[in-house]
Amino acid sequence: MKAKQCLVIGLGRFGTAVATTLYEMGHEVVAIDINEENVEGVMNLVTHAAILDATEERALRNIGVSDFDVVVVAIGTDVQAAILATMNAKSLGAPYVVTKAIDEMARRVLERIGADLVIRPEHDMGVRLARQIATPNIVDTLDLGSDYAIVEIEVNERLRGSLRDLNLNGRFSVQVIAINRSGRVEVTPRAEEELRPHDKVVLIGNAHALDALRRYLGE
Ligand code: ATP
Repeated sequence: MKAKQCLVIGLGRFGTAVATTLYEMGHEVVAIDINEENVEGVMNLVTHAAILDATEERALRNIGVSDFDVVVVAIGTDVQAAILATMNAKSLGAPYVVTKAIDEMARRVLERIGADLVIRPEHDMGVRLARQIATPNIVDTLDLGSDYAIVEIEVNERLRGSLRDLNLNGRFSVQVIAINRSGRVEVTPRAEEELRPHDKVVLIGNAHALDALRRYLGE
């Protein structure tokens, strides 16, 4: 995979984790913060680190914000700074800006001003954990953004029979894309395929549809 040019703004716990992990994975990472100590903390763990105020348009222009494939705005508490940094990055031409929001209100504002992706790490992890606890047979979830996800579900007694009889598409509006049987993956299985205990089915669907299926499986 081609190395990405990444700019991480705000080096709290979240931003530091994003920056150092991307660097470890072989990507080019520029990390900035207004706080000198935080910048020093990542100095040897990223490509380049600098003390910079991301609310200053000129500062972002000078580091060439539009040249980065991805800009991550990881400023949490100072919502105004997160908004300004996101707005500046977008208006200067950054192609893809991911911003962290501390609450729902901030998320809505950030989406409105053009953030390409807004995440709420504590909230999103909380939802994920709750789903895992509520339906332990969900093996894995891949969020696709814009409300779609791919999930892997371990078959339980509620999923007996052939795919045709189960009719998950008609009943839940989710599509079976693969069956994982002891590590052997069958992609786009036939309608006659019978599910067996311990099979894992991989499904794609809208988040609400997948939630409805989760509830059904957990009953
Ligand atoms: P975390 O949960 O990731 O530890 P947080 O949500 O508490 O962080 P803050 O501590 O508010 O977030 O902000 C993260 C970092 O962003 C801090 O290190 C802070 O110095 C930095 N920061 C705040 N304002 C700016 C700015 N204008 N430009 C650059 N960095 C900034």
